[in-house]
Amino acid sequence: DTIGENLDRTVRRFPDRDALVDVAAGRRWTYAELAADVDALALGLLDLGIAKGDRVGIWAPNRAEWTLVQYATARIGAVLVTVNPAYRSHELEYVLRQSGIRLLAAADRFKTSDYAAMIEEVRPRCPALEFVALLGGPLWDSLLERGRRGDPADLARAQAALSPDDAVNIQYTSGTTGFPKGATLSHHNILNNGFFVGELCHYTEQDRVCIPVPLYHCFGMVMGNLACTSHGAAMVIPAPSFDPAATLAAVESERCTSLYGVPTMFIAELAEPGFDAYDLSSLRTGIMAGSPCPVEVMREVIERMGMTEVSICYGMTETSPVSTQTRADDSVERRVSTVGRVGPHLEVKVVDPRTGRTVPRGEPGELCTRGYSVMLGYWEEPERTAEAVDAARWMHTGDLAVMDDDGYLSITGRIKDMVIRGGENLYPREIEEFLHTHPDVLDVQVIGVPDAKYGEELMAWVRMREGAEALTADTVRAYCAGRLAHFKIPRYVHVVEEFPMTVTGKVRKVEMRQEALRLLE
Ligand code: ATP
Ligand code: MG
Repeated sequence: DTIGENLDRTVRRFPDRDALVDVAAGRRWTYAELAADVDALALGLLDLGIAKGDRVGIWAPNRAEWTLVQYATARIGAVLVTVNPAYRSHELEYVLRQSGIRLLAAADRFKTSDYAAMIEEVRPRCPALEFVALLGGPLWDSLLERGRRGDPADLARAQAALSPDDAVNIQYTSGTTGFPKGATLSHHNILNNGFFVGELCHYTEQDRVCIPVPLYHCFGMVMGNLACTSHGAAMVIPAPSFDPAATLAAVESERCTSLYGVPTMFIAELAEPGFDAYDLSSLRTGIMAGSPCPVEVMREVIERMGMTEVSICYGMTETSPVSTQTRADDSVERRVSTVGRVGPHLEVKVVDPRTGRTVPRGEPGELCTRGYSVMLGYWEEPERTAEAVDAARWMHTGDLAVMDDDGYLSITGRIKDMVIRGGENLYPREIEEFLHTHPDVLDVQVIGVPDAKYGEELMAWVRMREGAEALTADTVRAYCAGRLAHFKIPRYVHVVEEFPMTVTGKVRKVEMRQEALRLLE
C-alpha cells in the first residue's frame, strides 16, 4: 500500500470512529471527516499544480492541520519535508534551499516565533519556493474550497500513479550530535514501520493515542499518526508544544489508552504538581523512546501511570524509525531495562566498529540494522548516505549496544558519547542509571571532559528534586563509594535547572561538553 491507499482502507472500515482530536483547538474529526478534509486539501494542491515528487514543507507546532497536510501530500505523491518548529530564519533557509521546497505550509506564529515574518525574510533567497500557505490563511482556505469542488477522479488518478517505493518524506534528524540530516523515506519505509509499532502495541479501533511528541519528528508522524491510521485508532494532540499538565489533562478528558513520550516528558509528567488528581485509569500502554530510558522512570510509568503494557522503542529517523521494541509479554525486568528484540521483518547485528566483525553476545559494539525500514538516503547527500548505509544496505547507527543470548538489546550509549578514561571505556549510560537511584536526583546526565592525566574525566550534570539540597562532588563520591568502581565515579558535579535540549526532547551533550569546558577554565 501507499499511505493514501492504507488510509482509504481504514476509512472504509471505521468511517464513524474518532480519527483526530486537537484538544487545544477544541476540534475533532471522525475517519470519514478526516478523509473528506484530506481529499479536499489533496485536490486543492493538485489544482495548484503540485505534482508527484514536488517538495511540500510543513513548519508548525503540533496541531490538526499538520496531520491533514501529512496525508494530503502522501495521497498525491508530494514529498513532505517536516521542518523543525524551533528553527529560526537561518535554519529555515537551509532546509528550503536544500530540499527545494515549492510550497510551504506554515503556522502564522506561535509564542515568540513569528513564522510568517521569518518566511518573508528568507523568501528572496529561496527561488524554488513558489507558494506559502499559512495554516488557516487565505491560500489555505482557498485550497480547501477549490478542493471540495474538485473532481475525485483526479485524485484517484494521482494516487494510482504512485508506487510504495516512492519518496514520501524528508525528515530531518534531531540534531543531537550536530547539524540535522534530511532522511528521505518512502511509503513502504514508514507505513510498514508505523503499522508494526501499532501491531506490537495491540492497537485496534478502540485505542486513543495521546501524542505530545513533535509531529515533525518520526516519533509523532510515524509511531503516532501512521500507527493509528493503519489500525483505526484515534490520534489525540494534547497541545501545540509539550506541556505536562495539558498532556495529563488530555489523557483524562479523552480517555486515552496510550501515551507517548521521550524520557524527559515522562519525568516532567510524574513530577507535575497535582499528578495524583488526574484520572489516568484509561491508560493501558504507551511508548517511551528517543533517548536512554531510565529503569526507575519506566517502573514509575508502569506503577503510577498504570501503563502496564508500555513499550520501549529504539530507532532513528534514518530507519523509519523503529528497529527494536519491547513487547507486552516480555518480563517486566526486560521491559524496563532493555530496548527489546528486533522488530518484524528486520535484522540487527552488533559489530566491532574498527573491524566490522560481529562481536559475541554480551559484548558491546556498534548496532547495525537492515531491512525494509532503511531510508532511501539522505536527500541529495550521497556521500553522507554512503557513510551511514554500507553496500550491503546495513545502516550503521552510531549507537553502542549489547545483545543478550535471547536477542534482547541494551543501548549503552552513542559512540560519540563514550568516555575513554585512562584507557578504560566508560559508558555514561551505566553511571546515569546508577545516579538515578539517588532519592534527591530528578534527572542526570554524564559527559566526558578533557583531563591532562587520564585523557578524559567524568562530569555529572544533575537536576535536583524540588526542595532537595544540591549534590556536590563530595556527596556524589560518598554515594557511589563501594557501589561503583572508583574510575566510574564522576570527578565533577554540576547542578542545573534544565539540560540543553533539542525540540524532540533530547539532551544535547555536545552543548554540555562545550559548556563544561567553560566551567573548567
Ligand atoms: P542527529 O542524528 O541529528 O545527531 P538524533 O540521532 O538524536 O540526532 P534521531 O533520529 O531523532 O536524531 O534519534 C535517533 C537516536 O536516538 C538514536 O541513534 C539513539 O542514539 C537515540 N535513541 C532512540 N531511541 C533510544 C532508546 N530507546 N534508548 C537509547 N537511545 C535511543
Ligand atoms: Mg542520529
